Amino acid sequence: MSKRLNEEPQHPESAMQTRRDALMIGAGLLAAPLVASVIPAAYAAEASTSAGDGPFPAHAYGATSVTSPLVPLQIERRALGPKDVLLDVLYCGVCHSDIHTVRGEWGPTPSPCVPGHEIVGRVLAVGKAVTKFKVGDIGGVGCLVNSCGTCENCLADLEQYCLNGFTLTYASPDSSKAGHTLGGYSDKIVVTEHFVIRIPPGADLAATAPLLCAGITTFSPMQHWKLAAGQRVGVIGLGGLGHVAVKLAVARKAEVTVFTTSQGKITDAKRLGAREAVLSTDTAAMKGLAAKFDLLISTVPEAFPMQPFINLLKLDGTLVNVGAMNPLEDVHGLGLARARRSLAGSIIGGIAETQEVIDYCTTRNIKADIELIRIEDVNRAYERVVNKDVRYRFVIDMASLKAGSQPRS
Ligand code: NAP
Ligand code: ZN
Repeated sequence: MSKRLNEEPQHPESAMQTRRDALMIGAGLLAAPLVASVIPAAYAAEASTSAGDGPFPAHAYGATSVTSPLVPLQIERRALGPKDVLLDVLYCGVCHSDIHTVRGEWGPTPSPCVPGHEIVGRVLAVGKAVTKFKVGDIGGVGCLVNSCGTCENCLADLEQYCLNGFTLTYASPDSSKAGHTLGGYSDKIVVTEHFVIRIPPGADLAATAPLLCAGITTFSPMQHWKLAAGQRVGVIGLGGLGHVAVKLAVARKAEVTVFTTSQGKITDAKRLGAREAVLSTDTAAMKGLAAKFDLLISTVPEAFPMQPFINLLKLDGTLVNVGAMNPLEDVHGLGLARARRSLAGSIIGGIAETQEVIDYCTTRNIKADIELIRIEDVNRAYERVVNKDVRYRFVIDMASLKAGSQPRS
């Protein structure tokens, strides 16, 4: 059982209690000041302006409608609760999910939408009951900031499949206060310690940030479907998730094939460690690979004809879709049945597994290939992601937000 659950039961009533406590702390009615007592002098000046007893302002970039670009915004972060960690955000990756959400491609998006769920930051302050972090540590936040903590999936460290609804890092109803969550395109964020990942000393902070989503999302299916040395795995789509998937599969000594729609990425795929790279429009090459694969991981962001890929699975092989989250196209019943093939899906990973992938990657020096950008270039970066032109993850240097800047178009 997860340690958090012993410490912090969250029945609906106690969750309400927590919310009420947060409100009362916000109003200065509960608890002594949490910050001054835990912040060393080096951080006290900054923290005292940013995390007193109540909610406090933070700088952010976000969109106020699904047709608007991201612009500078001032937002409010909640007062630090006893189990909360305040991060000074250093880096935040740009995931294609940010774009889907900002643009309302997955349904209505609350306004303002401040995306960002590949967050690495320095701990500026901790609540009085925090045990996992101290001021000055480096913490990471991925896609989840809360879950019920009591359902069977949460109890099995699978918070991403919480039966009572998890809280996503952004654009999700906020379980700690009214409104919705606001993500990591921001200079500060407050998150319950259980959902903050320890970033080990020595990690390359900017290039580690993408592992908090792209890394865990591709690591988790490799773990679940037990991808082993010598097995053949195909990665469909060489973008943010795909290029990390290649590195993770190579680290397991699997034989990796990349399926891409971009001729220009063939060389890169091999440099990343793939044994081969195939243009998925090359029907002859696709036919030649029929029934060869143990596992396929699709990171394609929208529905596409899957049957040509399912045909590549050997007996009992599985295609795991982590990309398209809309109705899938063209899957043939017999095409699955004739080799007892499976079509599966997977979302991100639980907190324990996210910690595992971060530790695994730091130990092996696995990191994302990144293009570090300033916040004012984020709208341009979105266009390049949509045009399959990211090599291979944009990461925002959040120092550029602190400097205060206007978006460039
Ligand atoms: P990305 O960087 O844009 O990479 C996606 C890649 O897929 C592209 O670079 C391109 O690679 C290929 N592609 C794009 N459009 C395509 C199309 N119409 N047909 C065929 N291939 C296409 O995106 P990402 O950040 O890696 O995210 C990938 C998807 O996973 C997104 O939809 C995202 O929302 C989703 N996601 C899911 C989870 C989860 O938990 N399941 C977590 C994170 C992200 P080539 O140029 O090589 O063809
Ligand atoms: Zn993501």
